[in-house]
Parts: sequence; structure tokens; C-alpha cells
Amino acid sequence: MGGRCGHCGLASAYAPPICPCGQVGGVEPCTFGPSGTVFSSTVLEIPVPGRTPPVCLAYVDLDEGPRILAHVELDSGPPPEPGAKVSLNVKNDLGDLVVSIGSTPVLDNHGAHND
Ligand SMILES: [Zn+2]
Repeated sequence: MGGRCGHCGLASAYAPPICPCGQVGGVEPCTFGPSGTVFSSTVLEIPVPGRTPPVCLAYVDLDEGPRILAHVELDSGPPPEPGAKVSLNVKNDLGDLVVSIGSTPVLDNHGAHND
């Protein structure tokens, strides 16, 4: 779901054709997560087109990956604290990355391990 530049090692949440370092075509698709750690989170109480407030957004440091901005599924609970473990979920209908609170991957992935 992301890419890592073979030249400078920069990880990004997608695979750009040109890395910010200037290397063209050097970004190899690779996957990150699905586990990550919340860097910070915020809850938007203002209406955003297509979304019903409150909307929780968090910056998440994916394990061995980039920092992404994702929507958080709250299930009416409190927003995650910095340092909380989250799992990358699927993209929603709006194309937003969605994470769920907790370290159990929601994605059906064969590489999952329980610890
Ligand atoms: Zn690069």
C-alpha cells in the first residue's frame, strides 16, 4: 500500500513516480503495518462535507513505515492517546485511510502474529 525509495530510503504512504529526493522510478512498492502507533490525534467537531462529526483524525507512525494521517474508528469511545497502538484498516468510501484502535489487525493477513 506504500512505497520506499531505493535511493534514499524514504517511506511514503503511496508510491510516487518521482521521489522527493529527485530519484525517478526508484520508489519500490511495499507494504507497511498494519500496526502503528498514534503520534497525535484530534477530533473535529465541525461538519466536513461527506462526513458526520465528530470526526477523529490521527497521525499514525506505521511500524517500519511512514507517518500517515488517518481517520480513526472510535466506536463511540474516546480518541486514542499518543502512543496508543492502532491497526490499519481498509480505506473507506471516501478513500480515506482508516485505523482501528487496538493492536489486532482487522485486515485478513497471513503474516499476522499475536503478541
Ligand atoms: Zn528518494
